[in-house]
Amino acid sequence: MSTYTYSAGPGMLPTEVMQEIQQHLLTFEYEGVSIIETSHRSASFQRVVDSLGWRLRRLMHIPENYAVLWLQGGATLQFSMIPMNLRKQNRFVYVDTGIWSKKAMEDAKYFGEVDVIHPLVDATGGMSFESSLVQEVDYLHVTLNNTIEGTRFTHIPEVDIPLIADASSNILAEQIDVERFGVIYAGAQKNIGPAGLTVVIIRRDLIQSLQLPSYLQYASHVDTLFNTPSTFSVYVAERVLKWVEDCGGVEAMERLNRQKSDRIYSYLEESTCFSPIVTGERRSLTNIPFTTGNQELDLRFERYALERGLLELGGHRSVGGLRASLYNAMPLEGAERLVDVMRAFEEETH
Ligand code: PMP
Repeated sequence: MSTYTYSAGPGMLPTEVMQEIQQHLLTFEYEGVSIIETSHRSASFQRVVDSLGWRLRRLMHIPENYAVLWLQGGATLQFSMIPMNLRKQNRFVYVDTGIWSKKAMEDAKYFGEVDVIHPLVDATGGMSFESSLVQEVDYLHVTLNNTIEGTRFTHIPEVDIPLIADASSNILAEQIDVERFGVIYAGAQKNIGPAGLTVVIIRRDLIQSLQLPSYLQYASHVDTLFNTPSTFSVYVAERVLKWVEDCGGVEAMERLNRQKSDRIYSYLEESTCFSPIVTGERRSLTNIPFTTGNQELDLRFERYALERGLLELGGHRSVGGLRASLYNAMPLEGAERLVDVMRAFEEETH
């Protein structure tokens, strides 16, 4: 029986990709030389980097007036690189949608004044924000999908300042209209590849030449590898993006993610044992928090699932309960298997 991991990140990677890497790890292009012992300045590694960039551009329809930067430091380093690099008047607005958005605004406070606005939730549970609150600031920051809380924006209103999006948990998992944003950033470890790689998609006119330490300036990274990247993560990410293209691209991924999350939400709604923590349109396609309503029973289910090969279903320590993360590499069978195991648990305990 297959094992599935519902980890919020690093998440599952496609089995086909991992098998390919296993086969090719010892010999990349030359007999006896592995990709992870190849210079990042070599022509063969440069081909991997170029291919990674082109694949992301094709998948997300990223136009030429945007640069794609491959960095390290995770999405967390972007919490400070963004205000550091985009500040002009040193005033920023953040929509507070949960723990990651709070962490982002805490770091921004080192570089200017942060105004916080709260999301609006409409009658269908859709999530948005009040755009008239946003004026005369350097940018507005949103977390498109809230990994911990299991919510997502369903509507991003027009604003006439740059929109900055943390897309760590939904990049390539649902369609994003890149041209609406000044910057989109994400840690790779959920939908792109292994941990250690961060992508920043930035409109070129926002890149300023600044008095900053060299690595911390976006300008240093445009159209070049500034220093040694995490070469293994770059290599694997390129293969994962090929896999996404072969699967039909982001549209196909979104369709599959809707199918997977619908299976679980539908069961949670009818279950007499479990219930979803979020309801309505704003619920996430990739992160589903749920609970039995009883801490001890939640833990019992976590152990019950583990014994049946379903891993990492514990909720985030800040919200408790349970959580299933269903990134691109999680097949539909993984969602169905989780429902089967929840149903069996429900029958045994009720
Ligand atoms: N933002 C979001 C929405 C996240 O889910 C995470 C990680 N789970 C982060 C930021 C932080 O990412 P990293 O660990 O790559 O710094």
